[in-house]
Amino acid sequence: MKKSPIFFLAFFLVLSIHAQQRKNPNIIIIMTDDMGYADVGFNGCKDIPTPNIDRIAAAGVVFTSGHVSYAVCSPSRAGLLTGRYSQRFGYERNVLYMPKDAAMGLSLDEETMADALGRSGYRSMLVGKWHLGAHPSFHPLKRGFNEFFGFLGGGHQYFPAALQIVDPLSVDDEGASYKTKLNRGLAVVEEQEYITDAFSREAVSFVDRNRTNPFFLYLTYNAPHTPLQAPDQYLSRFNHIADSKRRTYAAMVSAIDDGVGKLLDKLKETGQDKNTLLFFLSDNGGPLDNGSSNHPLSGKKGNLYEGGIRVPFAMQWPGVIAAGTVYEKPIISLDIFATALGSLEKTVQTKNPLDGVNLIPFLTGKKKGTPHEILFWRNQDMKAYAAINADGKKIWMKGDTTFLFDLGKSGAEKQNIANENPELVLTMKRQVAEWEKGLKPPAFLGLSQRDEYIRLRNKANLPQ
Ligand code: CA
Repeated sequence: MKKSPIFFLAFFLVLSIHAQQRKNPNIIIIMTDDMGYADVGFNGCKDIPTPNIDRIAAAGVVFTSGHVSYAVCSPSRAGLLTGRYSQRFGYERNVLYMPKDAAMGLSLDEETMADALGRSGYRSMLVGKWHLGAHPSFHPLKRGFNEFFGFLGGGHQYFPAALQIVDPLSVDDEGASYKTKLNRGLAVVEEQEYITDAFSREAVSFVDRNRTNPFFLYLTYNAPHTPLQAPDQYLSRFNHIADSKRRTYAAMVSAIDDGVGKLLDKLKETGQDKNTLLFFLSDNGGPLDNGSSNHPLSGKKGNLYEGGIRVPFAMQWPGVIAAGTVYEKPIISLDIFATALGSLEKTVQTKNPLDGVNLIPFLTGKKKGTPHEILFWRNQDMKAYAAINADGKKIWMKGDTTFLFDLGKSGAEKQNIANENPELVLTMKRQVAEWEKGLKPPAFLGLSQRDEYIRLRNKANLPQ
């Protein structure tokens, strides 16, 4: 029987209505910088109220054993945005701010979350700190993001009056890069606000402008990374904190919290809150010297104790993840990419295999067991390794020293139990060695090797 054109029209109409109903969720990642594990209300913080960040935890899940893949900023971000252990592509150091060096950044062989989501029709924006290379080839707009508002380096001055350098490509020094004016895309911005507030404003605006299409917002505050700077508006909330570092740190966290509140309100106001998968985390543990606290964890930013790699980590997707969920099994920031892709209606192929896993089925109970049999860390410059298995046993190695910890519920590394568990130590060492076979040596000299970099560059007569 021959079908009439009206039949086909009706058929496609039904199809398109169906497609609209099965809408891919928006993806938001809110990342703070150098924030301690203990410095959010949902992890028990008492002296710095974070009522808005806590809304995420209350509406979704707190990962009590949520980790990042590296203990400092730049490689942690490379891991998050590629969904892969960054050592697989030699990204194992903090990049130097070198706009003329086309090797100093996130390898162009890697694709980012923004690349992959872009293939599914997502519009993407990066707001805040980039820190994955200052050379033009690494610019966020070249790495899958449709929009960019922020700066390219590893940190920044917070008050607009201090932002005096117009061309971000004119400096090749981390400290100087802190004083570059902000950029919108490639254009120079004459910012008037405290930059944490500016980033919140831009994030809210992006949500407001993207009501009808799926979007990916990567809101990466540089706060509360040093320099410790906050306006009176936020400082005055913390007169009860005597320590001046902690007081300023608290004010910086409070500014973020206000911004998170505005963002959550905008999602609700525009009717997008239930169709948005949102993550909150810090890029590494607290360094302590910025006034942060990792209590009750040992260690800090830069090392492989839990204080360096376990961070405040929460996620919400109302209607999919039950409100008030607490998830205690070890997970890692690499899971964000896989979880985002797993939330799409249609499977998206990635260029390279991901190390993360989709967490949603584990949170809904669809999948039993643990997301990861084992998680790994390496800092080759420090000759340091760590691994955490599904039972929360952690091996920690540096040079010839090996510790084994039972992280238990709290994550505190209290007692070395390596001698009592020689077989487990051996097994985990073998697993680390096996994992390492898939890694590359560091691909570039980093912040800690700046002098050597300059010496080699001068010797080789490379572009200054
Ligand atoms: Ca950091």
